[in-house]
Amino acid sequence: MTTSDFATRLLAWYRRHARRLPWRSRRDPWATWVSEVMLQQTRVEVVIPAFERFLARFPNPRAFASASDDELQEAWRGLGYYRRARLLREGAAEVVARHRGRVPSDPDALGALAGVGDYTRVAIASIAFGHAEPAIDGNVERVFARHAGITANVKSSATRNRLATLVGERMPKARAGDFNQALMDLGAMVCTPRAPKCLVCPVAGDCEARRLGLQQELPRLPARKPSVAILARAVLVRRKDGAVLGARIRDGEINAGQIELPGPGILADHQDAGDALAHALHARYGARFEIGEPVARVRHGITHHRIALEVHDAKLLGRAGGRLRWYPTDDPAVPWSTPSRKALSAHARRGAR
Ligand code: SF4
Repeated sequence: MTTSDFATRLLAWYRRHARRLPWRSRRDPWATWVSEVMLQQTRVEVVIPAFERFLARFPNPRAFASASDDELQEAWRGLGYYRRARLLREGAAEVVARHRGRVPSDPDALGALAGVGDYTRVAIASIAFGHAEPAIDGNVERVFARHAGITANVKSSATRNRLATLVGERMPKARAGDFNQALMDLGAMVCTPRAPKCLVCPVAGDCEARRLGLQQELPRLPARKPSVAILARAVLVRRKDGAVLGARIRDGEINAGQIELPGPGILADHQDAGDALAHALHARYGARFEIGEPVARVRHGITHHRIALEVHDAKLLGRAGGRLRWYPTDDPAVPWSTPSRKALSAHARRGAR
């Protein structure tokens, strides 16, 4: 199969099988940008409804640049990794300040915007503006490592350069955006991590992995970091009307801007939960608590950390103030962090039994 055969077959397949995704029908660089940011750590099925809701509320960078923290949290609900949304708002404000509210078509200007890393820059530049640069994500790495039979670690800089060259050589310059999206779809639908569907693959004719039976072995990835188990504690304080005490997470911390059950983060497992927890909560919030029994325990993973969050029943001795506020638990607009939301649900289920 020649280089142009590769593109011809891939694009013919894409014409018939491309995923119908709402951002593809818009031809709007802002929509492309938003979709790429949402897709960074979230599955397509989750992104689709959130994308529609977000674009209806913020149809252009100017609208989003002035969004309040609460509006941002509400618009990003269900997607997680809120730092992405804050960077997107920062980038949108830069577009307003530097580019009169229009997403710039120049790849360097795009790459200078907050939150636009190299992959996102190339994806927006190729899909929205037709710039001929290969956008290499995990899907594309997998397709090319298999197709070219690359047995080296795909995350090494030498292999990444080799992949960029291979993709660039096969890319028809006039159809860069379609080519990049076709590769993403091939990786997501056909050349999948487990059990690739080689029988229906448009580029199977000269696939090295298929010829050598190496589909399951490739791509070769670096060894995973061993996971680390962490115990964290928090408190559940309820008011008579059912409201729950929460604390806004500070800038610079994970999930900044969201609300969490008050907690000092990680405590060593062997420490006496009551005293250590009360002491740490006082140090963090300047408030005194009477700590009761554990009422919920949930698990949550962040990168290679496996976090067990143990939540204790507690009383607040004094009034809420500072970062501590009362929040209704039945208001979906309160942006509880995922671990706190899980803990509240676990506690509610326990109460229902
Ligand atoms: S033939 Fe199989 S392994 Fe090769 S690119 Fe296609 S789906 Fe992937």
